[in-house]
Amino acid sequence: MSARHDLHNLTLAEQAAQLAAKAVSSVELTQAALARVQAHDALGAFLSVDADVALAQAAAADARRAQGDATALLGVPIAHKDIFVTTDFASTAASKMLAGYRSPFDATVVAKLKAAGTVTLGKLNCDEFAMGSANENSAYNKVINPWDAKRIPGGSSGGSAAAVAARLVGGATGTDTGGSIRQPAALTGITGIKPTYGRCSRYGMIAFASSLDQAGPMARSAEDCALLLSAMSGFDERDATSAQRPAEDFAAALKAPRAGATADKPLQGLRIGLPKEFFGAGLAADVNGAVRAALAELEKLGATLVDVSLPRTELSIPVYYIIAPAEASSNLSRFDGVKFGHRAAQYKDLNDMYAKTRAEGFGPEVKRRIMIGAYVLSHGYYDAYYLQAQKLRRMIADDFQAAFKQCDVIAGPVTPTVARPVGSAVDPLADYLADIFTLPASLAGLPGMSVPAGFGEAGLPVGLQLIGNYWQEAALLHTAHAFQQATDWHTRAPAGF
Ligand code: GLN
Repeated sequence: MSARHDLHNLTLAEQAAQLAAKAVSSVELTQAALARVQAHDALGAFLSVDADVALAQAAAADARRAQGDATALLGVPIAHKDIFVTTDFASTAASKMLAGYRSPFDATVVAKLKAAGTVTLGKLNCDEFAMGSANENSAYNKVINPWDAKRIPGGSSGGSAAAVAARLVGGATGTDTGGSIRQPAALTGITGIKPTYGRCSRYGMIAFASSLDQAGPMARSAEDCALLLSAMSGFDERDATSAQRPAEDFAAALKAPRAGATADKPLQGLRIGLPKEFFGAGLAADVNGAVRAALAELEKLGATLVDVSLPRTELSIPVYYIIAPAEASSNLSRFDGVKFGHRAAQYKDLNDMYAKTRAEGFGPEVKRRIMIGAYVLSHGYYDAYYLQAQKLRRMIADDFQAAFKQCDVIAGPVTPTVARPVGSAVDPLADYLADIFTLPASLAGLPGMSVPAGFGEAGLPVGLQLIGNYWQEAALLHTAHAFQQATDWHTRAPAGF
């Protein structure tokens, strides 16, 4: 078979179909992907790549298939956000603190995807310890948005988003604490889903804010996200917050017709709630336009739009930026130069070693969050900040339950604007404020999704956010799939890719 030059255009589902039909081998797909990763190195999406590891996994996948194994994603190349620990690659969380660190075990999500036969090309760049919204906080290189080299790809899963948008890889893992799957997916025109908290194991995910962190897939289509999510989710006894839910075949659910649906009205009977707080003054006109057009399309497909309210939407910013740093300050105390990671070369005594190690190993945003976290947890301020934030968090979750009495799915924008220029954030607060539409679902632990919904200013992608009630990932994926059957936004590739 002569080398094919179209392989990068195949979705994961298409790659899987061609592998099953023996029209292509995993080794061929992997070689093509490795060549493409190398050719587009300037994007900064990957922190590590290992051709030997990837090709050995591909050969093993081909051997499994030759023996009759027909696992859905067997032999499909993917890559992991460098927040997941892996035995085959260094795991850095994009921090100098963990430069070159090798984990003795694989994160559960990585192990599950490996068992499903996926091939790992390497590890993807992100914001340091997943703290950020622009991938400008990586201790290594920045990541470029494939749609415009002068724009941020979003964060913190910016490497995952750029790699999928540029078609270096058909799918990738991401993590979402306050929007880090949905926001970069929106800003790069790809599809991503943050599952319900507890759906995917956090074991081996380098912890940022443990009560919020959740793994999820990023790919070009809802169908591809469904394939990945089916493989990576499930109960794990090693994570005390992992939920005992039966395994679900999300790829099958996505194609199952809704009761009462017809061929041209696949969403007949679906009530979509529009929170009025998501369509206020802070929303840019171009994003509003694309989101409204997507909602009109969903109506054409049979859905009904209803007005709902999430009255504490604005409060989600202070609440999140108290709770997340509080948990981060605790989680990051393990990086002390003793157990693993960086240790200062010269120091006077133990305390000096801790101080120098942490001063050298952490970047400015991580230090800022540790200081905020230590402050809000300190004696005397705990009640005023942390306890108050936890109470409001509960009220934000209750607001969603009130809204879900009127609708099945909530929809709105993912971000207030399209991707901003690199280096344009005047201060960290500017980026914090732009998290307003992703934080509420994170605080409530609800599943949320970003679906390509058109283009705004300067031809940059816009995402439609879908939020479901607990464990309703199948409904989100089904809705997104119906939308993607009727639109082609998710099939558009940035110029040059
Ligand atoms: N932008 C948010 C933050 O900086 C969310 C990050 C995330 O989801 N990992 O914390």
